Amino acid sequence: MKLIFEKTSPGRKGITLPELDTPDVEIDIPETSVRKELDLPELGEVDVVRHYTALSKRNFGVDSGFYPLGSCTMKYNPKINEDIARLPGFSELNPMSQEENVQGAMKIMYNLEQFLCEITGMSAFTLQPAAGSHGELTGVMIMKKYFKDKGEDRRIILIPDSAHGTNPASAAMCGFSVKTINSCKEGEIDINNLKENLDKNVAGLMLTNPNTLGIFEREVMEIARILHDNGSLFYCDGANMNALLGIAKVADMGFDIMHFNLHKTFSTPHGGGGPGAGPIGVTKKLEILLPNPRIKKEGEKYCYYSNDESIGRIRAFFGNFGVIVRAYTYIKTLGAEGLREVSENAVLNANYLLAKLKDDYNLPYKRICKHEFVINDMNMPNNVTTADIAKRLLDYGFHSPTIYFPLIVHGAMMIEPTETESKQTMDEFAEAMISIKKEAEETPDVVKNSPFKTPVRRLDAVMAARNPILKFEKH
Ligand SMILES: *Cc1c(COP(=O)(O)O)cnc(C)c1O
Repeated sequence: MKLIFEKTSPGRKGITLPELDTPDVEIDIPETSVRKELDLPELGEVDVVRHYTALSKRNFGVDSGFYPLGSCTMKYNPKINEDIARLPGFSELNPMSQEENVQGAMKIMYNLEQFLCEITGMSAFTLQPAAGSHGELTGVMIMKKYFKDKGEDRRIILIPDSAHGTNPASAAMCGFSVKTINSCKEGEIDINNLKENLDKNVAGLMLTNPNTLGIFEREVMEIARILHDNGSLFYCDGANMNALLGIAKVADMGFDIMHFNLHKTFSTPHGGGGPGAGPIGVTKKLEILLPNPRIKKEGEKYCYYSNDESIGRIRAFFGNFGVIVRAYTYIKTLGAEGLREVSENAVLNANYLLAKLKDDYNLPYKRICKHEFVINDMNMPNNVTTADIAKRLLDYGFHSPTIYFPLIVHGAMMIEPTETESKQTMDEFAEAMISIKKEAEETPDVVKNSPFKTPVRRLDAVMAARNPILKFEKH
């Protein structure tokens, strides 16, 4: 497919302006400010529309098909969320507006913080962080300041080997050393290994629950007790809370800090680098440290305020407001009952798919799962790998699950169907997976050379990441 720059035809344009009917005045523009060459493509309106429509058709999104991406959740985004976020009163807001002119927007932010408190039992939330990883960084900064204010010098953060890579990255970015805690053979954190690594140097533990194997950490309250006895803090990576809504509260498990990914759990569209939102919640004793500014309600009025003890601002303005409106709409449309059903159906769907696949694919942790589960390519015939299966799925019209993560499962395929998928869709996906297994036995080259039906075949992913070509150069 040609780039839009290669389709250019000099003089072609998408608009026709009326003849100038005012005096044509010469304006003196300083020489240094005059652009000598403006290299924009010249095309008619229809050419532009066709170009971008063709591009959009080469992509795969949750609106085009099943997208069972574990951990990173590509759940369906109800279109009502888009309608609400596009209301001019929201989409045309200026973030520099005076408080009294944006009371409605502040009410939404305030209420969303309250909803998140209710869902998790935490005592306060901030909506400022722009992504899950940004929430983690904010949370770790709060841990650092908490110990600094207490006059304690703790330099280590413990992280299980099944954790998302952003956990150790956030801890390291904040100046902590990271120690890895092993998982036990049930797929949960190894408590003995935790105890062996715990001393007065440990600021805290970052835990994902359910963890990235889709398994609930049953000892979570015991872990909290062990940490708190040591004076350490307990951080919950709540990027994906799709199994817990309305069922279990993070604060009841003994966590002190958590982040949500609104763009995973509360359905706002994501991918391709954003936008997202990673609100963090804390218990009472850490509330004073949350980033400035905060929002409070005084009578009927919403206002900003700041605390001197805060870690300070971590973002310009107050968060990704469009994402906040979408998440707010999602929660309001579903209500408390609806949110609980989201999690019940997410867990039911995952266990349904797991049951359909477990005879044909290896299941390293043989347990009932929460919202997602992990299988792998062990015992696949003819050395067919997880990457081959992922590519072949595209020919069947499905996006691949998350692959090669978590790292503790060799050749992992992490499958999260989400709550909105029908039994028919999941049956079709399971059939595709099972026929790929058959192909691996009978015609392995078909799987190994796939995909055949996509606009591009196998890309050199390493080359694309190391030497990206991000702008058009005329030769
Ligand atoms: C996605 C994810 C993150 C990071 O969130 P981003 O918004 O991509 O920064 C952290 N932890 C887990 C478990 C995740 O799935």
